[in-house]
Parts: sequence; C-alpha cells; structure tokens
Amino acid sequence: MHYQHGDIHGKPIHLPLGKVVCVGRNYTEHAEELGNEVPTEPVLFIKPATALVPFEHAINASSAPHQLHYELEIAILISDICKNVNNVQAKAAIGGVGLALDLTYRSVQSELKKKRLPWEKAKAFDNSCPVSTFNMTPPQDISQLEMRLSINEELKQFGKARDMVFDVESLIEYSSQHFTFMPGDILLTGTPAGVGSLAVGDKLRAELCGHIDIQTSVI
Ligand code: ZN
Repeated sequence: MHYQHGDIHGKPIHLPLGKVVCVGRNYTEHAEELGNEVPTEPVLFIKPATALVPFEHAINASSAPHQLHYELEIAILISDICKNVNNVQAKAAIGGVGLALDLTYRSVQSELKKKRLPWEKAKAFDNSCPVSTFNMTPPQDISQLEMRLSINEELKQFGKARDMVFDVESLIEYSSQHFTFMPGDILLTGTPAGVGSLAVGDKLRAELCGHIDIQTSVI
C-alpha cells in the first residue's frame, strides 16, 4: 500500500518521503534483553523510504522467510533541514510525533551481528517500517511521551521517553553530525524492553498515550 505522511486529523502532510534514521539500544532494559551493552553514544542505522508503509496495513508474516520481531518506537517527523544542529535547533525541527514499528528479522540480525556485518537485510527490507499518522502539535516537553504495545490484548511493551538513554533532541543533534536530515525524514528513537516475534493472526494495538491509538494485524 502506498505510504504518504499524514496527520492525526486524516490530512496529508506535504513533506517528501525520505530516510528513516533509527537508533538501537536506547532503552537500558531492551539493550540488556538482547545481551547488548548500553552504548556510550547512539547506535545508528537507516531504513530507506521503501521501508515505509501505513501502520494499519496488515503485516505479512506468512511469506516472511525468517522470524519477524516487532519493536514499537516513538517516531519523530523532521520538518527542517538539520546538519550539525545544536539542541535548540534540534527541538525546533521536530515537526510531529507518531509511532512506528521497527520490524526486524531477528535471526538474520543475530547472524549478521555475529559476523560483524551491517544489519540492512534484517532491518531495511520493504515494508519494514509501518508508521502511524503524526500529531503535528507535539507536546512542549517531548520527554513526557509514553507508548504502549498490546498484542492480542496482552501488554507487551511500555516505554517512557524520559527513560531513553539519549533523549530525542540529543539524538537529532548527534545524528545530524553524520547524516543531514531533510524535511520529511523520520527519526525512530529506539524500543523499550519486551520485543518478541509476530505470528499470523496476531492483533496489535499501539498507543502514543494521549495522542494516537491504532491497530494492525498479522496475516
Ligand atoms: Zn528498533
């Protein structure tokens, strides 16, 4: 299904699709559950625009050749060019807040990590990034955001932005030293503990508490 940025009122957001800059191991308990050390600087990787798909679009796990894991993450829609920005400029570039799934072929990623190879085949495949609509009037204090993922009505993940190892503004500031953010790019801010695999028939409900409440399913 064709993806286009949209707001929570159902209106299209007229920003181009671009890259998705993702952060690994940004919640201590999640880093530990996968046996990783908590990093001293952000771990970054990128998904291409071809990874984007509307959140409600059913996740196809039946044809997936590998174990497919969910990771719910707070997604930030970038609205300004950011290159070597400071913390204040980073905050000003936050256009909207939403949710995304960083879908991951976990067994493939584990193999690649073992061989010290890049993760793209495990993380950047087509439709690996279901994205919600965005609230374009984000709260003044982004660290107040909280998210929740339930599968088949069982709570699997609960994350608070204030528990991030690196906060949203710091992530934009740091990433912009390496990759220029263009308007329409998205930042995924890492996943809290509780990741796991998806099975055909699963019903997912994701909430950005007080802002977004959406559902999808696995076919
Ligand atoms: Zn992730």
